[in-house]
Amino acid sequence: MGGHGNAPVGAAGPPPAAARPGSSFHEMWRELLPIGRDADSGGYRRHAWTGPDAECRAWFEAQAVGRGLGYEVDRNGNQWAWLGDPAAGDAVVTGSHLDSVPDGGAFDGPLGVVSSFAALDELLRRGARFAKPLAIVNFGDEEGARFGLACVGSRLTSGALTVEDAHRLTDGDGVSLPRAMAAAGYDPEAIGPDPERLAGIGAFVELHVEQGRALDLSGDRVGIASAIWPHGRWRFDFRGEANHAGTTRLADRHDPMLSYAETVLAARREAELAGAVATFGKIAVDPGGVNAIPSRVRGWLDSRAADQETLDTVVGGIRKAAREYADAHGVDLDVVRESFTPVVEFDHALRDELGRILGRDTGLTVPVLGTGAGHDAGILSGSIPTAMLFVRNPTGVSHSPAEFAAEDDCVAGVGALADVLEGLAC
Ligand SMILES: [Zn+2]
Repeated sequence: MGGHGNAPVGAAGPPPAAARPGSSFHEMWRELLPIGRDADSGGYRRHAWTGPDAECRAWFEAQAVGRGLGYEVDRNGNQWAWLGDPAAGDAVVTGSHLDSVPDGGAFDGPLGVVSSFAALDELLRRGARFAKPLAIVNFGDEEGARFGLACVGSRLTSGALTVEDAHRLTDGDGVSLPRAMAAAGYDPEAIGPDPERLAGIGAFVELHVEQGRALDLSGDRVGIASAIWPHGRWRFDFRGEANHAGTTRLADRHDPMLSYAETVLAARREAELAGAVATFGKIAVDPGGVNAIPSRVRGWLDSRAADQETLDTVVGGIRKAAREYADAHGVDLDVVRESFTPVVEFDHALRDELGRILGRDTGLTVPVLGTGAGHDAGILSGSIPTAMLFVRNPTGVSHSPAEFAAEDDCVAGVGALADVLEGLAC
């Protein structure tokens, strides 16, 4: 696996003086907070292989080196900080990502990385003795904000994204992924699957801010992920007849906007009935004139549900309704599935072990919840046992500057992650 100069535990320096879990959390959080924050929106623009991304990566390297951890960048640009010798195998790995969506929040990604370092500090403070190598990872380009594909770093490592397809990715300015990586100082010719690295990992645990309100509703600070919901994107093309908005009688129109609007309402209805989610968040109208009946309305549906059968029911119901509305208005309809990701079930044995570890001292049952959001842990679950911890998000808002987690909940997350790492690696 080629870790460089891994230092012994003692090299991490004297333990922090404060006895509270996460005592180093606040300092790290403050350091990271200003990087890539837009002054107007207050949101983050830490897009892959840009200046703010480089600053975040420099921060990660400084955290690793400052603790005497073995620092390395893998062939796909993911950053690793090792305690112990990676070659020993059966490593316990934790971490997340530092990049953001456009105008993203402070917590999605960084909470997991900062909590990982803070949990390690907490374990050293406890005098933990590690039986297995431990690593903290920062996966590159998780959000896909720049090249349109999420989890590029973990997809490349696991082989879920081929080198050829990765080379074809371009950003909004036409800059290819290889060019962007090269400009950031990395070798794009090196990218590709990394089975040897994955073979040396026994478990990966990602801590993440919850992107929903399940924990807020149950009154828990921390939860364990059960699964990532199956999800997909469908493009609905409604084709009618362009005509004059002033002179065409209502009865004579073939207006695709009407069929589209009715379909949006049907999506809401179907999702509510099934306990799923369905969203038309993007639309393109031709010709796009204020005084013209559209010739075509193209709407993109994003839908997610707890299981495949429910998702099929929801999307099937929306398609059927769209067909009926299109027919009623004399409008043509085509529906194309543009992408699809099946359900990801996290490793049951690891999940149960996390539950045991976290319930050990309190006797409490830690809630187990599904999520509609994708993560590196989901990508890697096909290759290695993975699990996730969620930290309460009081509003559920995510991918927005308003994303938030309370300080006490973040500290509880650090404590839970420390317990989990101790249980798995010591
Ligand atoms: Zn994330």
